[in-house]
Amino acid sequence: MIRFEFDNTFARELDGFYAPQAPEPVGDPTMVRLNRGVGELLGLDVEALDSPAGAAIFAGNTVPEGATPLAQVYAGHQFGGFNPQLGDGRAVLLGELVGLDGHRYDLALKGSGRTPFSRGGDGRAALGPVLREYLVGEAMHSLGVPTTRALAAVATGETVHRDRPLPGAVLARVASSHLRVGTFQFFAARGLTHFVEPLLHYTIARHDPAAADDPNPALAFLRGVADRQAELVARWMHVGFVHGVMNTDNTTISGETIDYGPCAFLEAHDPNAVFSSIDTLGRYAYGRQPEIMQWNLTRLAEALLTLIDPSEERALELASEVLRGFVPRFEEHWLAGARRKLGLVDQHAIDESLARDWVELLADQRVDHTLAWRRLADLDALRPMFTEPAALGMWLERWQARVGADPELDRRLLAANPRIIPRNHRVEQAIDAAYEGDLSVFDRLLAAVRDPFGDDPRYDDLADPAPPGFLDGYQTFCGT
Ligand code: AMP
Ligand code: MG
Repeated sequence: MIRFEFDNTFARELDGFYAPQAPEPVGDPTMVRLNRGVGELLGLDVEALDSPAGAAIFAGNTVPEGATPLAQVYAGHQFGGFNPQLGDGRAVLLGELVGLDGHRYDLALKGSGRTPFSRGGDGRAALGPVLREYLVGEAMHSLGVPTTRALAAVATGETVHRDRPLPGAVLARVASSHLRVGTFQFFAARGLTHFVEPLLHYTIARHDPAAADDPNPALAFLRGVADRQAELVARWMHVGFVHGVMNTDNTTISGETIDYGPCAFLEAHDPNAVFSSIDTLGRYAYGRQPEIMQWNLTRLAEALLTLIDPSEERALELASEVLRGFVPRFEEHWLAGARRKLGLVDQHAIDESLARDWVELLADQRVDHTLAWRRLADLDALRPMFTEPAALGMWLERWQARVGADPELDRRLLAANPRIIPRNHRVEQAIDAAYEGDLSVFDRLLAAVRDPFGDDPRYDDLADPAPPGFLDGYQTFCGT
């Protein structure tokens, strides 16, 4: 028996916030990939888990001792419209583990079968989206962006029906928690303050322990979530990440990126970039992400109002102040990141316009986001990327005057600006090959994205932009 030292606070303390739900066994579980680094972080026996016995656990066929499998309930605004009843429709939380780093982690299975919250869905996941989530999560982690991560991808031996029949898979996912804005909304929308309150206490203990000692814990908590999300979105913007489905049920309390369904990375810099097949109005376009996050946090604030102050007027006043602070907080984080990416170590008043003008230049001339930043350390390679070199020349003069002569500049630039991101065409190739039974493309891309700032010549091709035309009409899909 493979041992897991579960300590399941959610199941223990939040009765009424979930439905007990065992994963549904699958026909023929086989391990696709075990993420040994994450397994070790969780103190698990990775040798023993990288086996048929491990596959049976992560497919849901064997429920390990100490697990309390459950489906969490939540609501959510999806593309602006409120859905009062969502919940884990194809996921179960097995339990919590305390990692070697001392942090508590949720271990959940996604694609593990139907639950009371499945509505019309089959409760399952296809192999391609499971591998996408694995790959992009590892890339984000290596880029320094807070994220949930894959512990394992397991094939089920069963077929799922999407636009075509596909091999089924389960993703074992690790997260600081699966608490979301939508968790609070579910109970607040029903007027169940006596549920929101214990949820708040639980969440504060888990994510914002300092807020417990604040004269206004609910407000301090809101501020904590807003700060984490301001930093997260700033990091997304810097790596050119488009989440694609920033619904409030996909907005974590922890400040981790969650749910890599229709996500994509920018190639040419474009504030209007949208890749998701269902985002026809561009609600979740690259450039709108800060504004949407503020909107999502406003939904969290609404759910907390009665706990912020008994006077609605006073509660609104206090919450609005925090929400108004979100954009300035985001901008602070963005500017701090931009300074690092421009190779600046100190702060000058001109830095903000220098950074903004650079990004505007990338947008005007549709320059590859990742390579442009990277090539600040290689101006001969940078110049040919611009169709109107004069505008670039003027900007470079300002930047060079600002950085001055600095022997350490290139080293700093290369440490702050990645060369390798999981480019969309490469992710698609990895998935296509996996569907043909070949995981070598996935493995190679995974190795490359785990070293995003490196210069390994073996991965030169993975640094290149997509072939012309690839992104025309490129769409990603929610149906993980
Ligand atoms: P998402 O925005 O993709 O995270 O999912 C929105 C909601 O749909 C969540 O409640 C999911 O659990 C549910 N869902 C998505 N796909 C399925 C599926 N194949 N079967 C059941 N529920 C699903
Ligand atoms: Mg979701």
